[in-house]
Amino acid sequence: MKSSEIRKQFLDYFASKGHTVVASSSLVPHEDPTLLFTNAGMNQFKDVFLGFDKRPYTRAASSQKCVRAGGKHNDLENVGYTARHHTFFEMLGNFSFGDYFKRDAIKYAWELLTEVFKLPKEKLYVTVYAEDDEAYDIWTREMGLAAERVIRIGDNKGARYASDNFWMMGDTGPCGPCTEIFYDHGEHIPGGLPGTPEEDGDRYIEIWNNVFMQFNRDEQGVMHPLPKPSVDTGMGLERISAVLQGVHANYEIDLFQALIKAAARETHCADLDSPSLKVLADHIRACSFLIADGIIPGNEGRGYVLRRIIRRAIRHGYKLGARAAFFHKMVVDLVSEMGDAYPELKENQARVTDVLKQEEERFFATIEHGMAILEAELAEMAGKDNRTFNGETAFKLHDTYGFPLDLTQDVCREQGVGVDAAAFDAAMAHQKEQARAAGKFKMAANLEYDGPATVFHGYDKLEAKGKVLALYKDG
Ligand code: ATP
Ligand code: MG
Ligand code: MG
Ligand code: MG
Repeated sequence: MKSSEIRKQFLDYFASKGHTVVASSSLVPHEDPTLLFTNAGMNQFKDVFLGFDKRPYTRAASSQKCVRAGGKHNDLENVGYTARHHTFFEMLGNFSFGDYFKRDAIKYAWELLTEVFKLPKEKLYVTVYAEDDEAYDIWTREMGLAAERVIRIGDNKGARYASDNFWMMGDTGPCGPCTEIFYDHGEHIPGGLPGTPEEDGDRYIEIWNNVFMQFNRDEQGVMHPLPKPSVDTGMGLERISAVLQGVHANYEIDLFQALIKAAARETHCADLDSPSLKVLADHIRACSFLIADGIIPGNEGRGYVLRRIIRRAIRHGYKLGARAAFFHKMVVDLVSEMGDAYPELKENQARVTDVLKQEEERFFATIEHGMAILEAELAEMAGKDNRTFNGETAFKLHDTYGFPLDLTQDVCREQGVGVDAAAFDAAMAHQKEQARAAGKFKMAANLEYDGPATVFHGYDKLEAKGKVLALYKDG
C-alpha cells in the first residue's frame, strides 16, 4: 500500500466513525508566538481543548504537517542516525473534544491497526501511564492483550529512560496520561522494549500515541481539570507506512525512495545506501514545506532554523561531490510525490525552487573555503588524537563562512569529534562586546546603546533567554 493510500485509509476510517476530516494547518503556528513550528496534530485545536474555542464538530481527524527541528521537540540531530526520525513528517491524528474518551480511543486504534491494516497482534506492544489503571484494564481485559504486552511507564521524573507516558504541552497547557503503541520490527534489529535501558534502539518503534487530555497545567504546575476530558492522538505516517510496506526504516518507504533517487541523480552518487542521501531526502521536505508556508532563510528565529537545515543539506551534497547548486532541483520530485496531498506545495513550486537556489548559491560561495579549514583542522587533530574541535575555529567558520554551529558539529560528529561549544559562545560574546563598545563609542556620552545583535545563534539561545517557550515536551 502506498503511503498516500495509507493516509487516505486512516482518514476514511475515522470519517466512518463520525469524525470531520480537517485539513492540515500551516507549519507556522497561527497566533502562537510561543511555538516554533507546528509539531503535532493537536496544535490547531489547542484552544478547543482548553474550552476557549468551539467547533461545529466534536470529533476530528487530520493529517498534519509537522516540523521538529527546534524547541523542545528537536529531532534534527536524530536525522540520518535513527530509522524513525525526520525533521518534517506527517502526523495522522484523531481527536475528541469532550466526546469519546479512553475506551473508544483505544478501541478505534486497535481496530484500525489489527482489522483494517491487519497487523499481526503478536507484533504490537503497548505502554500506559504507570498510574492509569483504567487504560491498563481496557487493554488487558477488554482488548484482550496479555499482561506482558502492556507496559506501565511513569512520568520519567528520574529521566532514566526516554519514555514518558504523561504528555504535556510544555510547562503549561493541556496535558494528560497517554498510551502508546509500538511495533516489533524483529529480533535481528538492536533495541529493547520501552522502559528498558535498550529502548532507544530501533527494534520496537513507537507508531502511535494516544493522549487522554484531562488537565490544564498552570504556571505553578497545578493541574486543573479541562472543561471536558478529550482525546488527542498522533501516528507518524512514515512509520506506519514502513510497517505496512514490510520495511524497517522510514527511508525505505515508497515516498522516500523516490526522493533518495532524486538526491542520487543530482549528486551523481552511485551508493543508494549513503546516509547523506537520506538526509537530503529528509531535508528537501522540511525546507520546501517551510518555504511554501512562508518562511524564508534568514539570520533569526524561524528563518535561521530553515537556513541551518538548508546548509546542512548542501554540506551533505558537497560531501557527495556537488560543487554547485543542486538541492533545488529536488523540488520537482517532491512536488510529484506530495503535491496532490498538499496543493500549497504545487502552487508555490516556482518560488520554493527559487528561494532554495538563491540560498544555495550564497552558501556555495563560501562552503569550499570553510570546508577546507574544517577538514585541515580535523586532520591535524586526528594526528594528535584530539577529540574536541576548537571553539574559536568553529566561530570563525560561523562568522566568516556562514557555517552554523550545528553544521560544524554535524561534520565533526561523523569523525567522532565534539565541538568546544563554550569556547564558541565565548568567541561570540567577545565579538558582541566589541560591537557594543564600537557602538557606544559612536553614541553620545550618556546614551546607553545595547549594540546590534550581529549574529543570531539559533532558537535554542532564544529559548534560553526565555523568549520562546516550547509548548511541547518530548514524549
Ligand atoms: P519518539 O519517541 O520516537 O521520538 P515521540 O514520542 O517523540 O517519538 P510523539 O510526540 O508521541 O513522538 O508524536 C506522536 C507520533 O508522531 C509518534 O508516535 C511517531 O509515530 C510520530 N513522530 C514523532 N516524532 C517523529 C519524527 N521526528 N519523525 C517521524 N515521525 C515522528
Ligand atoms: Mg521524540
Ligand atoms: Mg510519543
Ligand atoms: Mg516516544
